[in-house]
Amino acid sequence: MRTVKDITELFSEIREQVLYLQDLGVSELAVALPEPSNVHAATPTAATIPQTEAKYVPPDISLNIPIREVAPSSTKTSGSRLSALPSLSNRRVPRKTVNIEQGEPEMPKARTQTAAEESLFGDTRPTLPEGAETIEDIRADVGNCTRCPLYQGRTKIVHTTGNFNADLMFVGEAPGADEDASGEPFVGRAGQLLNKIIEAIGLKREDVCIGNINRCRPPGNRQPTLPEAETCKPFLLREIAVIRPKVIVVLGNTAMHNLLETKVGITKLRGQFQDYFGVKVMPTFHPAYLLRDPSKKREVWEDMKKVRDYLSTMK
Ligand code: URA
Repeated sequence: MRTVKDITELFSEIREQVLYLQDLGVSELAVALPEPSNVHAATPTAATIPQTEAKYVPPDISLNIPIREVAPSSTKTSGSRLSALPSLSNRRVPRKTVNIEQGEPEMPKARTQTAAEESLFGDTRPTLPEGAETIEDIRADVGNCTRCPLYQGRTKIVHTTGNFNADLMFVGEAPGADEDASGEPFVGRAGQLLNKIIEAIGLKREDVCIGNINRCRPPGNRQPTLPEAETCKPFLLREIAVIRPKVIVVLGNTAMHNLLETKVGITKLRGQFQDYFGVKVMPTFHPAYLLRDPSKKREVWEDMKKVRDYLSTMK
C-alpha cells in the first residue's frame, strides 16, 4: 500500500525529472504508459548479459523515458549488485579456473548482514571483486559496440577517462552532443560546471576519473532506457573493479539508480554515503540540473565537502 509520504516523494521525483528534461531542452513527451508487468518482462537482468556479446532485448514499451516505480520507504538498496559483475571473481571467494567457452562462474549474491552477525563475525559483506583485467582490455571488449540501439546515432563512443589510479570517481548518465562529438565525458556546459565542482574540493579534473552509465548518446539527450543502461553498465562496473576508487560520486538519478540498484530518488539519498561493495558512494545532483536550478549548488557543495573530508581521512 502506498502511503501519502510515498506519493509525495513520487511527485517530488517527477518534478525533478521534468525540470531535468526541460534543462535538456525536451518540451514535449508522447507518453503511453504500459502495464508495469510489461516493463519488467522487457528488462534484461545483468546476469543475462554476458561479458562479450551482450544481447539487447528491445523494450516492450512505447515510452521514451524509463519507467520509475514508486520509491520504497526504505533507503536500503538491493543486494543483487555483485551478480552484475559477470566477469570478475570475488575477493572472498576462491578463484576458479574459468573456461572461456563455458562462460564465467556464477557470482554469489550480496546479502544484507544483520547486526547480530556483524557483532559476532565482523563485516562479512562482499567487497569489490578483484579484476585481473585492465582498462584497455575493457575498452577492447566494448569494441565498436552495437549491443544496444544507441550505437545507431553515435558519433564517438565515450569511454571512462581520467586518472585510473584516482581515489575519486564521478559517474554520470550518458554523453550529450558535445561528448558525442569529442569522445570525452563531461566536456559540455555540465562538464564545465563539474570541473568547477572538482576544483572546489581542491582537485583538478586530471586527478579524478569520470565515466557514464551509457557510452553512446541517447537521441535528443533522453535518459537511457533500462535495457540500454543494463547493456552498457557492466563495462563501467568492471572499470570500477580495476580503478578501485575510494569514493564514487553518482551524479543524478540515472547514475544513482543504476549503480546502487535502488529506486529511491536522489533528493532523498543525496548527501548520505552509500555502499558499493566497500566503496563509498555519494549521490548528488547532476550538474545539468544545477544549470537549471542554481539554488541546488549549495546542497552539492555540502555533499562534496563530505567527500573531501572522507578522502582526507584516507591519506
Ligand atoms: N551528462 C552526463 O551525464 N554525462 C556526460 O558525459 C555529459 C553530460
